Amino acid sequence: VEVKDVGNGERDATRLLRAPEAIARILSLATVVDRRETVPLNLAAGRVLAEPVRSRLDFPHWDNSAMDGYGIRAADVAAARPEQPVILEVIEEIPAGRAPTRSLGSGQAVRIYTGAMLPEGADAIAIQEEVTVLPDGRVAIPTAIAPDTFVRKRGAFGRSGDEILVAGTRLGPAEVALAAAAQCAQVTVFRQPRVAILSTGDELVAVDGPALKPGQIVDSNRYALEAFVRQMGGEAIAGGIIPDDRAALKTAMADAIAGADLVLSTGGVSVGTYDYVETLLGELGAAIAIRSVAVKPGKPLTVATVPRAPGPNSGQPCLYFGLPGNPASALVGCWRFVAPALKAMAGESVNPEAGRLRCLAAETLIGAGQREAYLWGRIALRDGQYHFIPAPGGHNSGNLVNLVGTTALAIVPVGAGAIAAGDPVEVLTLS
Ligand code: AMP
Ligand code: MG
Repeated sequence: VEVKDVGNGERDATRLLRAPEAIARILSLATVVDRRETVPLNLAAGRVLAEPVRSRLDFPHWDNSAMDGYGIRAADVAAARPEQPVILEVIEEIPAGRAPTRSLGSGQAVRIYTGAMLPEGADAIAIQEEVTVLPDGRVAIPTAIAPDTFVRKRGAFGRSGDEILVAGTRLGPAEVALAAAAQCAQVTVFRQPRVAILSTGDELVAVDGPALKPGQIVDSNRYALEAFVRQMGGEAIAGGIIPDDRAALKTAMADAIAGADLVLSTGGVSVGTYDYVETLLGELGAAIAIRSVAVKPGKPLTVATVPRAPGPNSGQPCLYFGLPGNPASALVGCWRFVAPALKAMAGESVNPEAGRLRCLAAETLIGAGQREAYLWGRIALRDGQYHFIPAPGGHNSGNLVNLVGTTALAIVPVGAGAIAAGDPVEVLTLS
């Protein structure tokens, strides 16, 4: 399988910026959004903690029973044998939710249920399956039971004062559950990065517009990028379709920059007559950080920072990504280059190794000479090994049809002619 990047001539790629350096440069420019907000816990999933959550409770909060049975003193039953069981008096029943009223003395037991609090003096649980209840209500314990058996000790999972959730954590189901258990009804999170999305091109029409005339296509990038931004925890701002007109594009870019932390535009970044994005960025006072990257597809990637006057939303510069217009190039660019920036801006602590897998190539993957090549597809476990399965059909930067179902990108490094079927390949997972 080989990736075809239509419309971009193979110029001298040896002098181009390499992808890892481009990502490092992008990360150096992507600063966390400088605004925080407090949100109720039921709306907090997907958000990133700006302040740690510290618990004032031990977990468990008190010694409790892991089973239904009898709370006992282990020392009382140390000599118990089936032919000579130890008989204990049951002094109290403790269902979940009720605190014991008496401490346990020698020769005594309590009836207890899962999750219920152990009385003082009890240090082990005799599970009900192994206990015989005598006609007078006393219980016979047939074997010795070690201290702490089936007891969840106070503080065994976490201690009061612990940082149970660290800043930079993206909250998921387990994290909001833990915050709830710690009686934390609201959390302080970073404001979501606001991401404006602009589609440039005279050929573009909206999805709900009239039937396509010859030469027209639907602006599908808007949908790709909005979905991507939401999936990454950003707030997507639709900037619409902008014609290839200098003045209109400049106005739209200025508006987008003023209202967003990050701008993603597609199209207009090649070297065609109507490719104005870079020139206009210069006119808008931007510092261009990246002009193109040694990758295929998606070489004409423009990255810039644009200073903004301090305002109520932020005083930070806006980060601008000019992505190529071809749908596969635009999305691959998002996955490879925008995703790390968006995570950093959202405040998420990112492990650079996360999302990387070594797989075996299920088919031969053709490289792109002095450019890093990306092939799209999915990962499957075959015979106990992860395999990268490229999408069937042409890996053409204009091909949206076989981009469907993509959950992984195989990376064929610079200088690798090809990765033969069965050889290892580094894969970026997307889900
Ligand atoms: P450009 O980078 O502006 O030269 O665009 C390259 C190609 O990408 C164009 O010929 C279009 O076919 C396609 N394209 C550009 N913008 C979009 C868009 N918003 N949605 C879908 N396809 C697009
Ligand atoms: Mg265009």
